[in-house]
Amino acid sequence: MDFGLNAEQAAIQEAARQFAQSVLMPNAAQWDENETFPREVLSQAGQMGFLGLYTPQDHGGIGLSRLDSVMTFEALAMGCTSTTAYMTIHNMVTWMIASFGGEALRSIATELVSGKALGAYCLTEPEAGSDAASLVTSATVVDGDVLLSGSKAFTSGAGEADWLVVIARDEDDRISAYVVEGKAQGLSYGRKEAKMGWHSQPTRSVTFEQVRVPMSHRLGQGGDGFRFAMQGLDGGRLNIAACSIGTAQQALNLARDHCQQRAQFGQPLAQFQGLQFKLADMATELAAARQLLHLAAWKLDEKEPDASAHCAMAKRFATDVGFQVCDAALQLFGGYGYIREYPLERYFRDTRVHQILEGTNEIMRVIVARHVLSEHYNAMRLTEG
Ligand SMILES: Cc1cc2nc3c(=O)[nH]c(=O)nc-3n(C[C@H](O)[C@H](O)[C@H](O)COP(=O)(O)OP(=O)(O)OC[C@H]3O[C@@H](n4cnc5c(N)ncnc54)[C@H](O)[C@@H]3O)c2cc1C
Repeated sequence: MDFGLNAEQAAIQEAARQFAQSVLMPNAAQWDENETFPREVLSQAGQMGFLGLYTPQDHGGIGLSRLDSVMTFEALAMGCTSTTAYMTIHNMVTWMIASFGGEALRSIATELVSGKALGAYCLTEPEAGSDAASLVTSATVVDGDVLLSGSKAFTSGAGEADWLVVIARDEDDRISAYVVEGKAQGLSYGRKEAKMGWHSQPTRSVTFEQVRVPMSHRLGQGGDGFRFAMQGLDGGRLNIAACSIGTAQQALNLARDHCQQRAQFGQPLAQFQGLQFKLADMATELAAARQLLHLAAWKLDEKEPDASAHCAMAKRFATDVGFQVCDAALQLFGGYGYIREYPLERYFRDTRVHQILEGTNEIMRVIVARHVLSEHYNAMRLTEG
């Protein structure tokens, strides 16, 4: 077992770190304040390969492993949580289209990888959130095409994205996935949601009124959609966990510096053992969360049977720890943590939603509990007596 980075991993992580340092970080506060969607920067990210990290190379992607991809997202999130989180959703959509789409969708996947086009993922509906399988958006076949009708809630990137992966129910009560043009006739967007965080990307509802989609834009066969949606989310959960870890690492780094620079009662804050222990716990929990995330990513790469359960464990644990570390870092900054001149309050706002989306952390526990109670759990077992 080797916990070190190989030369290729170190190079990718360094490229991501430099992009985070020079392109994302200098702009993150302004994007947050002005709610700017940085489309230009996203196309730059595409040129760097960050928009098709784990998309297969024969579709123009970089073809990285999930493990290498999460390490890249961790580094990017240190520069801007919200923009990196959008990149992770875009990566998930790109991977789904490249992996499950036919020849007719190949050029779309290529455009998404390069950043010429952007993607969005439409699963959640107003009445189907955690219970995603209860979705009612309908897909009806007319003259060989598909007509989509219904509405989706909370779509990240909606209104800006050029291509949407839409999960819908067909006439045979099967759930299928379709690739739909963002400006298709009959498609309309709700207002930009006013959110607590994630200000550099829009979130909107999407309404479909008999939106016509060619059958060649269906991913896989009829009835494959829910499986594809869940496979996409296994990776999506790792990615969002990586965004929490990267942000929390940056928060910890800043808190550490602040504790060494700021003096009270005649000595640096870092001299107070109570605060030293706080830093120690933050670093320890972050290391544990990162290792669980990397294990889950490795399991997904290796197609281990318990990979999905580990993706859920990692998502739950890393997003909880990530948020707690950001909160603790804000506390170590005292009043300065609460004002916008410093990024701590943004980290706190941006990481909060990671506990809610890509499946809430309660739903992650449902998935993990199902695994623990299944016959497949704990194959290595000692028998008493
Ligand atoms: C900023 C943002 C961006 C998003 N982006 C996207 C996107 O791009 N695409 C997309 O499809 N969706 C997106 N979502 C939607 C997100 O995935 C859902 O909000 C999430 O799955 C929860 O669904 P819900 O909001 O309907 O909550 P509900 O399902 O109504 O849940 C409410 C509460 O009940 C709990 N709960 C529900 N069922 C159970 C249960 N069985 N056991 C225990 N607790 C339970 C939940 O954990 C939660 O705490 C986004 C959401 C936000 C806020």
